[in-house]
Amino acid sequence: MYIVQVASECAPVIKAGGLGDVVYGLSRGLEVQGHCVEIILPKYDCMRYDHIWGLHDAYRELWVPWYGGAIHCSVYCGWVHGQVCFFIEPHSQDNFFNRGCYYGCNDDNMRFAFFSKAALEFLLQSNKRPDVIHCHDWQTGLVPVMLFEMYKYHGMEHQRVCYTIHNFKHQGIGGTETLWATGLNQESYYFHYDRLQDNFNPFAINYMKGGIVYSNYVNTVSPHHAWEAHHTDIGCGLGHTLHLTQDKFAGILNGIDYKMWNPELDSYIPYHYAKDNLADKTLNKKALRERLLIQQADKPLIAFIGRLDAQKGVHLVHHALYYALSREAQFVLLGSATEPGINSRFWHEKNYLNNHPDCHLELGFNEELAHLIYAGADMIVVPSNYEPCGLTQMIGLQYGTVPIVRAVGGLVNTVFDRDYEQTKHPEERNGYVFHQTDNYALESAMNRAIQLWYQEPEEFSKLVIQGMEYDYSWNHPVEEYLGVYDRIRHK
Ligand code: ADP
Repeated sequence: MYIVQVASECAPVIKAGGLGDVVYGLSRGLEVQGHCVEIILPKYDCMRYDHIWGLHDAYRELWVPWYGGAIHCSVYCGWVHGQVCFFIEPHSQDNFFNRGCYYGCNDDNMRFAFFSKAALEFLLQSNKRPDVIHCHDWQTGLVPVMLFEMYKYHGMEHQRVCYTIHNFKHQGIGGTETLWATGLNQESYYFHYDRLQDNFNPFAINYMKGGIVYSNYVNTVSPHHAWEAHHTDIGCGLGHTLHLTQDKFAGILNGIDYKMWNPELDSYIPYHYAKDNLADKTLNKKALRERLLIQQADKPLIAFIGRLDAQKGVHLVHHALYYALSREAQFVLLGSATEPGINSRFWHEKNYLNNHPDCHLELGFNEELAHLIYAGADMIVVPSNYEPCGLTQMIGLQYGTVPIVRAVGGLVNTVFDRDYEQTKHPEERNGYVFHQTDNYALESAMNRAIQLWYQEPEEFSKLVIQGMEYDYSWNHPVEEYLGVYDRIRHK
């Protein structure tokens, strides 16, 4: 099969979070199965060019219709750790992708409407006719809309779209300007509840809703989150749309790329290890402490890695840090905050705890350090308010770092409480789970983990090994996606 991924991220060249990991990991998993995969991305000025091999211009004269005229683009091709990627660079005063950031601009909706249009134009003009176009998140929600309303009539009638939602919180809201810019034009047609009209603001169009309505298949990234989005307010207003389209909506759990995330091969960690030589994991713990200037002591080390925002349960992250210290555990935090209030709170915390021998806060994005933390920590805490899938707990499991998670979204599908999970045999349990969003709930789970580490180290090691035995690679999700592609291809 020939599959084209259209996305705003692809790890490690463009990564703001899990979306990047998924686009890369899924593409690689599909190629390993013998399918042809190409990835179309924006050419951002700030992406990690050091992760692209053989970048060259592949298509120089791409003219993308925009408002009444057209914007000239160049398309570059390069290999990102073996995956073929096309990077679209527009030459216009809008400077859509030369902003020193991936997201967070006032005109994000126009930037990604343009990218969606340019991706389709590139496919059309370069005569690429994939069996399936796989789009991701709000940034590419307009791809199926334009495909089935416009491009279908210009020679792309056989293409089918799979649309994956990684986060319902950001949906892409536009107005009439999006319609006029992209050439969709007819306002009264698209400002309709059955099409792009936002479910709550009648004067707005919603890109993600467009993606759901027009795609041949829609999924989010775990079965439990699919249920939450459909039946609770986690769908952020799209629950009714999902209800109307439920026959084509489901949850497919993400995988993690075991080539990138593998303690036996990881080039970012000083000591490689597997489940039968956990002593070498301890050497990584020592190296991590040295690097972060934490004292070497007979204490468990608990980590948090992730974006510091409301989704990730920052109030609980904060509490986890102080609770760990009060329970003779050490704590390492690696996170970045985009919201100024949260950012200054954690900077304040970092300064306050600067000389503390048992903790370290690293504020910013640091891929290399993340690997060392996964390898060196004993436990990883994921106290999210909501979590579509969550990769940190799965990476933690792979690195023998016991997850302590809140029972939401994909965390429910991947972590099984050592003491209470009824659906799993004790030998299949792999972590600790709590349910409520208050401090006590978190404490009860952390307490059980810390106690086991101190009082029953052999049992703790057993739990570590049970976690490492889980297979959260892409093997299984790739099979599921292939099943989906095959179904929609024959419709
Ligand atoms: P998100 O909601 O951000 O997509 P996920 O758990 O799905 O969360 O994926 C997070 C990914 O980003 C993981 O690979 C994690 O290691 C990485 N990550 C998050 N924050 C940081 C950071 N500050 N530095 C390095 N890697 C990070």
